[in-house]
Amino acid sequence: MKYKLLSLLFITGLFMGCSENKHADLILINGNVITVDENIPRAEAVAVRNDTIVAVGSTSDINDYKTDKTKVIDIKGATVIPGFIESHAHFLGTGKALLNLDLSKAENWDEIIAMVSEAADKALPGEWIIGRGWHQEKWVEPPMKNFNGYPYNDQLSRATQFNPVMLVHASGHALIANKEAMAIAGVNENTPSPEGGDIVRDSSGVLVGVFRENAMQLIEKAYEKAFDKLPPQKRYAIMKKQAEAAMNNALQYGITMFYDAGSDFETIDFFKTLADSALLKLRLNVMVYDNYDKMKKNLPDYKLLDYGNGFLTVRGIKQFADGALGSRGAWMLEDYSDMPGWRGMCVTSPNEIAKVAELAIRNGYQLCVHAIGDRANREVLNIYEKTFKKHPEIDSHSLRWRIEHAQHLTPQDKPRFAKMGIIAAMQGIHATSDAPFVVERLGEKRARTESYCWRDLINLGTIIANGTDSPVEKLDPIACFYASVTRKTKDGTAFYPEQAMTREEALRSYTINGAYAAFKDKILGSITPGKLADLTVLSQDILSVPEDEILKTKILYTIIDGKVVYERNGGVR
Ligand SMILES: [Zn+2]
Repeated sequence: MKYKLLSLLFITGLFMGCSENKHADLILINGNVITVDENIPRAEAVAVRNDTIVAVGSTSDINDYKTDKTKVIDIKGATVIPGFIESHAHFLGTGKALLNLDLSKAENWDEIIAMVSEAADKALPGEWIIGRGWHQEKWVEPPMKNFNGYPYNDQLSRATQFNPVMLVHASGHALIANKEAMAIAGVNENTPSPEGGDIVRDSSGVLVGVFRENAMQLIEKAYEKAFDKLPPQKRYAIMKKQAEAAMNNALQYGITMFYDAGSDFETIDFFKTLADSALLKLRLNVMVYDNYDKMKKNLPDYKLLDYGNGFLTVRGIKQFADGALGSRGAWMLEDYSDMPGWRGMCVTSPNEIAKVAELAIRNGYQLCVHAIGDRANREVLNIYEKTFKKHPEIDSHSLRWRIEHAQHLTPQDKPRFAKMGIIAAMQGIHATSDAPFVVERLGEKRARTESYCWRDLINLGTIIANGTDSPVEKLDPIACFYASVTRKTKDGTAFYPEQAMTREEALRSYTINGAYAAFKDKILGSITPGKLADLTVLSQDILSVPEDEILKTKILYTIIDGKVVYERNGGVR
């Protein structure tokens, strides 16, 4: 067997050397190529034939691949890296957010009311007004009438009487609805909070209009029902618009592969139609997020590996163990420092997640569980450990199961990731945008020893895949890279900088590690001959420019399968 492999390599080697085979469809020359491949870490040029990288080397080496048909891009000293891989974000959610009201820049509640009023003026009666990205902690002053910082919905209800309004919190783990939306959802003073959720009431029992965690579904379902009532063509058109917006956004950011962190089977059917008509412009991996019975029935039929020319893969399952820190939904081992007696919440019982883990193993799916709080992470690690023990025939490392966010970890849980081969799918940018309230929520000790501790995890041998959780954050990999290596917030203060990644590590987390976390490291993630030609060209070298210059980096080209799909001067193709 070994002999055969060696002779095969020898033959291929000779073959590649034959001059008549030294031709390329695309060459990038005069660049600074960062390959993320230890064999040839740096080069000047890359040659691509069809969809595959055929050579990496000096400009003069690569010029040998030029024929009359070769497209030559002289990148004039710019930097080439493997295409950015977004390892955890929400595909249609990103599109939706781009199309809906963006509330993330509002400095106070009044500004949001004004935005809603304006949208209501343009909307038809009964049409839903959707917004996303508000965060009460980021406003310059609290709303006049508030409960624990949350605005009451009175003003929102007055802003429009004829349109239901749903405004999702920046964390994605809470929303505020107006009275019209609540009436459509059938929520009133007597509606009990569902398990794992909270219909927020003030001390005299008055509904604030805020819904947290599982309670959000009351309003979301009413909205979905209205959406479902639309004729299929209209629905399809809306989803297509969202997908379009997400793809264009991703390509402009140099993202070549996108791991969608949870879509139901119906949405996956839609993705399949996109792939069938060659409308997917980037590689999309999908985690299935649907109910247990549907998964039990459908998982075998829905597994897709490199479907549609390698653009659609479905082999992950998403589960949620808890909520988010901002909305105090993260499930903690000890009380929140700013809310004694409260430890957040478990949104799916460990037993249920364990059942899904069995389904995943039996159907050959990768399990990806959202865990933010230290308790949630411990529970998920326990579930993984127990499941692996039940299946000693499988090497747990080969399953590449993931914990999404892995945000707060006790020192004793940190080594368990590398030990079992669990990938930490973290978001560098979450650390710096959460920084203003982490110490408030958890106190100084937990913030320092448990929070966003990617340095500790890497030192212990953990694979970290990076991403933005868009639309929670902007899809921007450069901003996330900067956060990962500096841990600096907008005002320049560094949040426990001792946990920073090196720049090389951050680049790996966005390329080869992302490929590994999606089972694509054999074909993607580095600029290596034989791998697919997914490349991103940057205006400057993010490994060597001064730290405060990193954010000025521009995306010049995004190349997928050897084709230029975005060009700074020409836009998305
Ligand atoms: Zn997410």
